[in-house]
Amino acid sequence: MTVIGIDDTDSRERGMCTTYAATRLAARLVAAGATVDRTLLVRLHPAIEHKTRGNAALAVHCDADPATAADAVEAVLGLATTGDDRTNPGAVVADLDPDAVPAPVEQFARRAVRERCSLAEARRLSTAAGFRQLTRGNGRGVVGALAATGAWAAFDEWTYECLSYRERERRGTERVVDRDSVFRAADTFYPEVWDTVDRVEQTAVCVPRTPGPVLHGIRGETADAVQAVAARIESEPVSARRTFVTNQGTDAHLQRTSLSGVENGGCYRVDATVTAGPETREGGHVFLRLGEDTGSNSAETRLRAAAFEPTKRFRDRVRALRPGDRITACGEVGDDTLNLEKFAVRGLVKTERVTPTCPDCGRSMSSAGRDAGYRCRDCRTTAPGRVERPVGRDLDAGWYEVPPCARRHVAKPLVRGGFDAPTHPEQ
Ligand code: ZN
Repeated sequence: MTVIGIDDTDSRERGMCTTYAATRLAARLVAAGATVDRTLLVRLHPAIEHKTRGNAALAVHCDADPATAADAVEAVLGLATTGDDRTNPGAVVADLDPDAVPAPVEQFARRAVRERCSLAEARRLSTAAGFRQLTRGNGRGVVGALAATGAWAAFDEWTYECLSYRERERRGTERVVDRDSVFRAADTFYPEVWDTVDRVEQTAVCVPRTPGPVLHGIRGETADAVQAVAARIESEPVSARRTFVTNQGTDAHLQRTSLSGVENGGCYRVDATVTAGPETREGGHVFLRLGEDTGSNSAETRLRAAAFEPTKRFRDRVRALRPGDRITACGEVGDDTLNLEKFAVRGLVKTERVTPTCPDCGRSMSSAGRDAGYRCRDCRTTAPGRVERPVGRDLDAGWYEVPPCARRHVAKPLVRGGFDAPTHPEQ
């Protein structure tokens, strides 16, 4: 077997896309007489600030001999570059079974999903493993290429995406996709196929808005289901279509840790207590403060958490939290702020302490002085201190998530199941 890893072929100016490069690479290998077993689409930790939605690297598993594979890679890399210094593609060709990559390469793949990895390390590991490296520009793409090569051994949870591509001459123009056919197909195959549409925002999430060759991408649990949905969508002509095995929708990026273990640049799942907020600020962003998971709203605040405006109705769930609530929060941390993707309600504050009311006249009592309790001026009744009153809550125990329109590629939709508490999926 030969494993080819490839990454960083996307150019902002020319609208290339690494998945398309892998699709062309697979077609070239087949034309050369090889069999392609699968193509992997691996979402890595964003290595560059502006790639916030998730950096893609690809691997092709095939039976081509390494020399033929390297020729095909050279041909595809030749299409990717010229004149854009932010395009630094890299590829590795490994003469081995995808299950049998060396342990350091497997570990590198696991880390590359969760943190930034260096080009120097990727090159060193590739050389040590005897992998052929093919690059353009500064070769930064070797990082993703090596991670994609190790991914099959590193991870055991996979989903599928069927990507359909536009004809070359249409790229850059508005995509022609029949909305009704998208919603019909999405409904027919939900929840085996997810994040095709956002039923509240009424948007076809599967159709990208950025320039680039992708017409639509259908995500789900099985290759058959994603292909069936793609086939039912009525649209402009499709020039190529390929189904990828992918770590999308698996939460592979989240590390479990405590609040004290959180660092900027990482993606986490942490247990915490809400210590302050929620507060809605200019732009419609909602902020919370989180402290250690003690269940006390006097816990020391360690981290800010935010649900930003693009997360839409998810912000209403966050606004329903109160100080003292115990939650599990998930998301990426940057600027000392956890960007919430989902959270689980573990314990809700059910009472609040309020000024007592007079048992005789029913009016609010007033303070009788420092540490002197409360009294009613008219009826001369007294109370020793504040009293507990039940609070109505608009949240239930369990998991809440951003809607499909705001989901990052790697985040696991609740509808996929396997969570440790009840779920409240967004459709
Ligand atoms: Zn009274």
